[in-house]
Amino acid sequence: MKEEIRNICKDAIEVWGIEPQARIAEEEAAELIVALEHFRRGRATMDEVRTEIADILITATQLAIIFGEDEVSAEFNRKLARLKARIEESKRNINKRN
Ligand SMILES: [Mg+2]
Repeated sequence: MKEEIRNICKDAIEVWGIEPQARIAEEEAAELIVALEHFRRGRATMDEVRTEIADILITATQLAIIFGEDEVSAEFNRKLARLKARIEESKRNINKRN
């Protein structure tokens, strides 16, 4: 995690507290869901979706700090490796069919 991003997110937790910041993360997750649904139906712009994605990245970073950065990082890497393996398996299956 980039140090400046981490420091700003840690400051937010220190200034406003764990519980309020965790609640904001929940709200931001809901806002992204709504923005994606509205975009799908032609009622939101890409910029509106982008701003909600940015909110999620910031609040997810705060959640990682709250719940344990090292553990979240380890889980992130595990899931990314699993995704990579699944992609490779899918590519092999596509090549077998062609
Ligand atoms: Mg938002």
